[in-house]
Amino acid sequence: MADTEQNITPASDRSVAEKEAARQILISEVQLGLKLAQYGINYNAGEIRPFQDGFEQASAYNRQRGLTGIKLPHGVTARGGYSRFTPYSLVVEDGKPVLYDEKGPIGVISFHIAHPVTEELLSSGEKFRHIANVSNEGGVSVAYSSECSLKDLGEDCWFCSINERAKDGDLNKVLIKSPKLVAEAYHRARQAGVANHFRITGGFVPERREQEYYLDVADAIREKYSSFYGVGIIGAPADFSVLPKYKEAGFDNISHNLEVWDRNLFAAICPGKEKRNGGWQHWVDSLEHSVGIFGKGNVHTNVVGGLAPLDSTLEGIEYLASKGVVCHFSAFRPEKGTPLYGYRSPEAWWHWELLDKGTDIYKRYGFTTLQMYSGPASAPHHGQVFQIKNGEFEGDTLAQWKFPALD
Ligand code: SF4
Repeated sequence: MADTEQNITPASDRSVAEKEAARQILISEVQLGLKLAQYGINYNAGEIRPFQDGFEQASAYNRQRGLTGIKLPHGVTARGGYSRFTPYSLVVEDGKPVLYDEKGPIGVISFHIAHPVTEELLSSGEKFRHIANVSNEGGVSVAYSSECSLKDLGEDCWFCSINERAKDGDLNKVLIKSPKLVAEAYHRARQAGVANHFRITGGFVPERREQEYYLDVADAIREKYSSFYGVGIIGAPADFSVLPKYKEAGFDNISHNLEVWDRNLFAAICPGKEKRNGGWQHWVDSLEHSVGIFGKGNVHTNVVGGLAPLDSTLEGIEYLASKGVVCHFSAFRPEKGTPLYGYRSPEAWWHWELLDKGTDIYKRYGFTTLQMYSGPASAPHHGQVFQIKNGEFEGDTLAQWKFPALD
């Protein structure tokens, strides 16, 4: 056929096709990440160690011989346990870690390296990183306690390894972090430009102490700054009238982490949350009530993807979204020392179904990328898929999303 005008694809159509092709590349990389989590990676720890952050190497997950904080070739984050019997391997070539599958090289990967501020010593003599973490997104994350008091009652959540991790003195040098110390770490991070979000969570403490502690932390931060942007992750309070106090203290977002939507599974898997905080219905009521205080998309919860059937999990995400609550989700990882150790997470396709359908729900209810990242720490798992679906990438690379800078 002669070269006519009809044979020339208009530039706008070409760019739409290119964008769609790039989207598919990124979606495939998300699916690859899920397969790495399912099958694991074969690697030589000594060879890979120089590319990793020291703290990352010592994380609880890595003590089970796994790799965290991986950035795949197109920018998607991933993790994978060690396995000798897997299609995936990591080898060092020309001084770079290269991921392979059975067919050949996939590409060069990199690892998350902690921000230098985390190496600083605070006035107490503690290292910053023993008080707080700095995320890839430019936020500060604090787990104020390294233990959960539900353990003593035999009511801790079946999947949670907080009390196991607390036994590791190297990783958990400070069991309870004073509000003053937390505020100092926040200040250091803000001076370094990486405190554009502040997340605080921790093990279970009786409600009244939790509230006082969070408000003391917010007050300590506001001794130096008129405001901050962040989320308080708390249990559902017995009396909803305390909820506005968190907002008044400066928290723009609030989260009650349900962990599992199905009410019967919630009662079984999270016995302390069921018994001590008024039960499943009370948690859900508190989330809905909070939307009236914090606004649509600024109230969060988290479910552990894989603890309950897919349909039930999606039902929860949909129901909560219809009420203005972002129900985030992570991928279940059975951890050593927990009652579910030895169990398996669902397969990669299951997690992809949840990611695909869950992010469609977020889009349908008009949530924003900022809201994807402003709640619990599970954000990149679904936040990156949300961004890919929204076309928030250049070429075929997903750049690291960052919280907007504070004034
Ligand atoms: S309440 Fe939170 S910290 Fe305590 S066991 Fe459950 S998930 Fe872990």
